[in-house]
Amino acid sequence: MQKLAQHHLKEIGEYYPGLRLESCDDDFATYTGMIAFSANYCNHGLVAEQFNVKIVFPLTDTFAVPTAEETGGRIPREPDFHINPDGTMCLGAPLAVCRKLKQDSSLKAFIDNQVIHFLYGYCIKKKYGYWPFDELAHGGKGIVEYYKDFFKTDSELAILELLKIIVEDNYRGHVPCPCGSGSRLRNCHGPEIREIKEQQSREQFFSDFVDCLKIYTDAGNKMPRRLLTKRLRSYWSRMADKTADTT
Ligand SMILES: [Zn+2]
Repeated sequence: MQKLAQHHLKEIGEYYPGLRLESCDDDFATYTGMIAFSANYCNHGLVAEQFNVKIVFPLTDTFAVPTAEETGGRIPREPDFHINPDGTMCLGAPLAVCRKLKQDSSLKAFIDNQVIHFLYGYCIKKKYGYWPFDELAHGGKGIVEYYKDFFKTDSELAILELLKIIVEDNYRGHVPCPCGSGSRLRNCHGPEIREIKEQQSREQFFSDFVDCLKIYTDAGNKMPRRLLTKRLRSYWSRMADKTADTT
């Protein structure tokens, strides 16, 4: 994998000469160093800046999600600046990051389209006090928003049922679509499900499902019994064990 990691580096060398390959294993390459850019997205203002970053980029064709971290200590590690609890940049819902990468899976595209985009957003926020792009809410809320937008529905319950189909790998086109439109799944939300189901891992879909479920039940809604999958039951009993362990 060293070869592929070097190949990526060579490809970006002309554009981001300040980055170097720090390490790599079978699955990921870690690049660190400085990236400089000059950008003006949607006329929010010209930004010419440089940042120290650490980029962890997947080398296999699995569903691994790349991450980026600002390492110069300039961006406060707070949700307000869209920094995840683990210190990485919140580049969007995991599925959104994967889908963007699917369009162009090069390291250069990831830096250009996602990392620089984020850093530009930070610079505008710092200078003018607002985030220049559609601001995804933090954590589970952001994931729900992403799926609402993707499935074009306001119903959190419909999102849960659609995600459940992916989590359980149980797509049947002839059943009524869970969004309640009255159409068969294949003529309604079926194409969206088929489009995204191979775009991230089943584990990640399950994690998204759990996040959406938490938002749904935290709002005072009761979880319909039909959503209680076998996997969800074992997940919750594991969570219960974990909580018991720490007390
Ligand atoms: Zn539907």
